[in-house]
Amino acid sequence: MASVTYDHVWKRFGDVVAVQDLTLAIEDKEFLVLVGPSGCGKTTALRCLAGLEEITDGKVMIGDQVVNDVAPKDRDIAMVFQSYALYPHMSVYDNMAFGLKLRKFDKADIDRRVKEAAKTLGIEKLRKFDKADIDRRVKEAAKTLGIENLLKRKPKELSGGQRQRVAVGRAIVREPKVFLFDEPLSNLDAKLRVQTRAELSKLHKRLETTFIYVTHDQTEAMTMASRIAVMNKGKLQQLDTPQVLYDHPANLFVAGFIGSPAMNFFNGKVYMEEGKMFVDMGSFRVRIPDHDIARYESVIGKDIIFGIRPEDIHNPEYAAPGIIAEPVDVTVDVTELMGNEIFLYLVNGTHSFIARVDPRTQVHYGEKTQVVFNMDNFHIFDPSLDAENPPVVL
Ligand code: ATP
Repeated sequence: MASVTYDHVWKRFGDVVAVQDLTLAIEDKEFLVLVGPSGCGKTTALRCLAGLEEITDGKVMIGDQVVNDVAPKDRDIAMVFQSYALYPHMSVYDNMAFGLKLRKFDKADIDRRVKEAAKTLGIEKLRKFDKADIDRRVKEAAKTLGIENLLKRKPKELSGGQRQRVAVGRAIVREPKVFLFDEPLSNLDAKLRVQTRAELSKLHKRLETTFIYVTHDQTEAMTMASRIAVMNKGKLQQLDTPQVLYDHPANLFVAGFIGSPAMNFFNGKVYMEEGKMFVDMGSFRVRIPDHDIARYESVIGKDIIFGIRPEDIHNPEYAAPGIIAEPVDVTVDVTELMGNEIFLYLVNGTHSFIARVDPRTQVHYGEKTQVVFNMDNFHIFDPSLDAENPPVVL
């Protein structure tokens, strides 16, 4: 068990700056998720920790030890990749034992570690000695997945989810200080991904070890992380708990990246009229609640970006009583019924935006109607503060 520290870490590939001055303290036993769009540098950051990339500048520490010059095999970490990379000709047991055999553990120790890991993962009966059990479990899994007719294909004795678990098992037997996961769920279908996500969370609690997990999927980050580090273009944007990131994004990038459907953004201008504050979006305006006026005084007369999440735009009929509701005229462009809610794609002037409204809402394509913005929950970003970085929230 160990903490991990990135101390002003840089990684350049020629002219490409993959990781820019990354400083990040990951606590012992934490489930830290590094999230960001493709190419933001998250895999490189993980590989620097694993020792698979040499860092250009800065320090990487595991516990109290600077590991910049420590060989990957001596860093006491285990990595699980997107492709499980299991050896198709080997049994589950041998796949899990393989890394240990290479590292010249004695047979009794290998046996103990594999058995313990298999038990932790609930796959102890999938070892090669118990063919009937393999058969039963694969069939059960295949049934759940609707792939029973693929069972005769070789060498796939196991479902994708089980294969992923074996890959995790192979990491567990090494009893590492830190687990590194690089998009381990990408190859699974949506349902299995949800299930495996929950299993990984449970596994983290059971093992009480530091997990560092890389993904581009903000839902994975939100559901599993104790803290999330959001990256963009090689730079750390914000590090905090999922709820704080969601409620208080530090800048426009984080606001747009965390949450699905994403936060709506409108170019607007803040102005005062008869002691009241408004944001003018061109084709409509919203009034800022009086208790927020002082907070936004610095941007009066300035171009800003107004942000509001889809769940804070309501059908007025079903809006919770007591919210500060600002009416906005809209034309309905698309409706998507999700069962428990409806996504409305709405248009006002040149603005297009999404609302998540009550499922009892009855509106149709092309209809002109009204929604309300919940002015208890909105964000204002100032694009003028820092031209290099995404606009910060005020
Ligand atoms: P993805 O989700 O697509 O894997 P990522 O966020 O993990 O993306 P990285 O793989 O860390 O991103 O890449 C960060 C940047 O560094 C990218 O611009 C990438 O093209 C570049 N890069 C990564 N590895 C190398 C390399 N070996 N040589 C040159 N450039 C590289």
